[in-house]
Amino acid sequence: MEAVDLRDVSVVDNHCHGILRSQDFGDIVSWRGAFTESVDPGMPREHVATTAFYRRLIRTLASFFECEGDEEAVFTMRTERGTSELLRSANVETLLIDTGYPPPEEVLPMEELAKRADCRTEPMLRLEILMEHLLSDHGSLQEVREALAAALDDVRAQGYVALKSIAAYRTGLAIQEWTDEQAEASLRDYHQDGSSRLAHKPLLDSLLHVAFAEAARQEVPVQFHCGYGDADTDLRLGNPLHLRAVLERPDYRGMPVVLLHECYPYTREGGYLAAVYENVYLDLSYGIPLLGYGEMFSFTHQALGVAPISKLLYSSDGIGVPEIHWMSAIDGRHVLGQALEELVAHGELSIPEAEAAGEKVLRGNAIRLYRLERNG
Ligand SMILES: [Zn+2]
Repeated sequence: MEAVDLRDVSVVDNHCHGILRSQDFGDIVSWRGAFTESVDPGMPREHVATTAFYRRLIRTLASFFECEGDEEAVFTMRTERGTSELLRSANVETLLIDTGYPPPEEVLPMEELAKRADCRTEPMLRLEILMEHLLSDHGSLQEVREALAAALDDVRAQGYVALKSIAAYRTGLAIQEWTDEQAEASLRDYHQDGSSRLAHKPLLDSLLHVAFAEAARQEVPVQFHCGYGDADTDLRLGNPLHLRAVLERPDYRGMPVVLLHECYPYTREGGYLAAVYENVYLDLSYGIPLLGYGEMFSFTHQALGVAPISKLLYSSDGIGVPEIHWMSAIDGRHVLGQALEELVAHGELSIPEAEAAGEKVLRGNAIRLYRLERNG
């Protein structure tokens, strides 16, 4: 019997991705590939099955399917019975979906996902993809800036609840201010390189400032990928402390900033920022990073130790397969309940206060921040 029991609380998953239309993986090694951020082919073949995350996944699935606890038995059940029961049993109230990846043609349409998970779905707009489209349609820096400001003129009216930036993946979170000459030179380099991938720092930084001005004016939250990601990211540049110059701008104070993935392993840094800047929030993601239980407890303990509880938001960062969205909801409720029990043990919260705090992190804070109340 748990003192702080959050098992019946529905979750608002404030950051996740779509689920692939095809869930037919053919063999176990391809399925394992859904549970690593590595692109090295030897990882799913040799190593993924030995992570603490994967061992927990197999055991949790075996108990859900009521089958033997070995990988083969679980994979067979998943293949034969399908995965839609998983989503429905996760008790998700709303999924906020980063529609930037995987590409829309590869994932279930949002309405279909909503039906299968028996929940509400809301999209978020990935800035770098919008910028890449506009860069292909417009010539000069001034034209691209104007087109971007026009495209972001009324984010909510276009149906988006938030913006998302993957600057951490491209050029890092130390987003600076550049002169027009520097940004224009960067634009020329971008066109000369011939690829649509925007990883040209003065150009990307300059366009992000256009987006921040719009977000601040409309008070639309901007999610930043921070910390742990695939090998494409330079983890050192994903430390949220690099955002200081942006956070210090008085004209951006209207822009709520959501630091994703508990900034793992920079959780204390992210929690600190949430403690000193009114507009900074810290996302606690229990699916990806793919961590052991102890490590999830540890980051939750660190976040609760420094950040206001009103700044913490639950997510899964689930992507591709429903297992991650599902197991994250189970783990998130459990880990958060245990970490809140510590605060009770230390005399910081009463049990009813801890339960109310858990409900806020799992759903209430997100409903308020993303204004999900507005259409019911
Ligand atoms: Zn994500």
